[in-house]
Amino acid sequence: MTTWNIGPANVQQTNDGLAWTLVAPSELPRVEVDGQTVALTGPVTVERSVAADGAEVLRFTITAGKVQVTRWFQAWPGEAFVRTWGAVENCSDRELTVTGAELLRLDLTATPLWYLFHVNQFSWRYRPDFFNEFQVPLTPGGAPLELRMGAFPAACWEATSCGWFAVSDAAQNALHKQQVGHGFVVGIEFNGKSRVLAEATQIVSRIDELNHRLAPGETFEIPACFVGSYEGDWDDAGHVTQRYAEAHVHPPRPDDRYPWVQFNTWGFGQDINEATALAAIDRCAQLGAEVIVLDLGWATQIGEWRADPVKFPRGLLPVAEHAHARGLKFGLHMPLAQVNVDSPVAREHPDWLPHRYPEYFGAAALCLGHQPCREWLTTQIVRLIDDYQVDYFVQDGEDMVKRCDRADHTHAPGNSNYANAVQGLDAVIETVRALRPHVIWENCENGGCMLTYKMARLYTTSVTVDNIATYATRQGIYGASYPFSPRYSVRYMQDDPTPYTLRSAMFGGPLILMQRITDWTPEQMALTKAALDQYKEFRALIRDARIVHLLPPRWNVQGQGWGWDAIQAVAPDQSRSVVMVYRAQGDTPQKVIRPRGLRTEGIYRVRLTDAGKTLELTGEAIAEQGIEIALPEFSAEIIQLSSLPVLADH
Ligand SMILES: [Zn+2]
Repeated sequence: MTTWNIGPANVQQTNDGLAWTLVAPSELPRVEVDGQTVALTGPVTVERSVAADGAEVLRFTITAGKVQVTRWFQAWPGEAFVRTWGAVENCSDRELTVTGAELLRLDLTATPLWYLFHVNQFSWRYRPDFFNEFQVPLTPGGAPLELRMGAFPAACWEATSCGWFAVSDAAQNALHKQQVGHGFVVGIEFNGKSRVLAEATQIVSRIDELNHRLAPGETFEIPACFVGSYEGDWDDAGHVTQRYAEAHVHPPRPDDRYPWVQFNTWGFGQDINEATALAAIDRCAQLGAEVIVLDLGWATQIGEWRADPVKFPRGLLPVAEHAHARGLKFGLHMPLAQVNVDSPVAREHPDWLPHRYPEYFGAAALCLGHQPCREWLTTQIVRLIDDYQVDYFVQDGEDMVKRCDRADHTHAPGNSNYANAVQGLDAVIETVRALRPHVIWENCENGGCMLTYKMARLYTTSVTVDNIATYATRQGIYGASYPFSPRYSVRYMQDDPTPYTLRSAMFGGPLILMQRITDWTPEQMALTKAALDQYKEFRALIRDARIVHLLPPRWNVQGQGWGWDAIQAVAPDQSRSVVMVYRAQGDTPQKVIRPRGLRTEGIYRVRLTDAGKTLELTGEAIAEQGIEIALPEFSAEIIQLSSLPVLADH
């Protein structure tokens, strides 16, 4: 059961749905107007309704002086999750400024000792070990734990976290031995910068740098977050989050084959043209790839969004048609919020640029929080979709939520964190998706440095690590697959195809080849084709599975990695499982791997794909005694487990 306080009301999520009682006010989710915290102690109005999808919605309204504060709670029958969001309406006759808003405020009991678990997101500068997991005890009297979340540039020097954490009354030791605990998970649906402050008895999440002007009668939207209860270990915390997000957050999967095999032209750099693209598409068709994306370099320049007339003299339509004729979807790369200072739009509207220094391949920034700029961009994207038959976009750029202090924009100076997120980037994607719902969006953004559930609501998939090296990408997928479904773990691959590099790209997806495939030998084509067939065999299982984190890729030594790592996917009915086992450089030539999450008494056929060895063991024996794997350096093995039918008694 999960409890929230809102004004004098106390909301409880039970097995039967939402319940609420009026209680004495305690610590409340705070709103600050004109620098003053609003006292949420007035009379409360409560309305109950049922949404189209069967969700029960409670709406609390409190009039507090010059503003009316509303909070919504939404829950689905039989699910241990509640989603909550809010609004502040200006009821006065003069302009007010919202200067602070909390997304969440949760009270904890002082005992037991709570542990908070979270996963850092990507940063080039902060540390080479991307997506590391952290388990922190919330010790009474200790300093609050502060987690920064949301869009931070990849060049950020400070640690930032995925917009998710789990809290449990049981710690797990370094070997991830299962400890059954009870607790809850939280997901933040805000792409701008926010921070969580966690203490022994209280957890608060609030928006950074808020300075939102509110005219009389206008409403300020407080972004949503969700809270769900669970029991088990950190893998279970991730699993319940992923199942909730698949049902109520993510865009639906475009088809049953998803995540797709993709080819992206970045292996050619910006040196692409029609002949290269057409030849690459023919290679894609031979390999069984399902999408081709023209990466940076297809347009005249950044911000001038039409086909480069030298590279693509006939435009992009012949390329799109060639792809479609071979059964591939056609995609474009686009850094939405970047613009060259000498592009036509920047010359015509120099005031749309928050600054003019080159931050992304020579391009400066656009402020999407400024309404005319956002409208121009939306028109450009829709025109591209229609003119070039675009099915797919990779959104890229340096920090999608720009800092803009201009006083001549439609947002207030000092409010670009909120304006460039909610009214900027989010509104652009939402508008285009409503106008052209068939187009699939991939979040790239200079690496996974905006891993929030607002991103996960807008996009069908996401990059994790903007580093296509084999080991670093495995690190990204290992950590990101706690909060996010493996379909949010794009596998960029630019290393030459070998059994090891191909295997490393097989968990999660989409699987994105970035090599110069037109130069590949018949042997490289055959090796890759076989690996892609194997990927397609496992992708649905992995996508829908409970992910078990067996052995972390912890040490990115010399960019090559050190030792063994392993990750497992278990089908929801425990009938099948697959384990990817890797050995980078060093460590021992043998390792015992202990897959878990299987039926204890069930008998499984255990197949070592490369070693060609087959065993029959119970789920208990697999987890306790384990399976010995022998691998040379820089190689991989796939353990496939399938349950055998139980024989009827004689
Ligand atoms: Zn601006």
